[in-house]
Amino acid sequence: MSSIDENLKPNIVVLSTSDLEEEIKGINEELKKFKGENEEEHRKIYEILSNLSKMLNWINVAKSQAIWKSKTCKHSVNFTCQAWNISDEEKLGIPSEAIVINQDGTKKVIVSKFPDICMVCPLYEARRS
Ligand code: SF4
Repeated sequence: MSSIDENLKPNIVVLSTSDLEEEIKGINEELKKFKGENEEEHRKIYEILSNLSKMLNWINVAKSQAIWKSKTCKHSVNFTCQAWNISDEEKLGIPSEAIVINQDGTKKVIVSKFPDICMVCPLYEARRS
């Protein structure tokens, strides 16, 4: 594994925020069934869910920025990031359909399919054209 891959913390898996939103919605619905049984506990749980929803909103903002970066970064050539080499996409939580293998064996990320990698990328540089 290259030092770049190591810096990406291979144990981190990017979760889908829409899945999490659905989960929170489901928990909210379940919670309604028990309303009136313990008001104090309900209030606490609703507060936690509300905080989670706010965090998800911020993640969605970050995701929007990732999409914008993936489209405007000079390292994105034909929708593929030329800056990063990926050795093990599974460990990095990158879907295999978002990986292209070059003739020299290097693996690149198709950022149009997985823009999340652009989210906190320090290599971003605006394309000048
Ligand atoms: S922002 Fe980073 S990951 Fe995205 S295309 Fe540019 S260099 Fe690649």
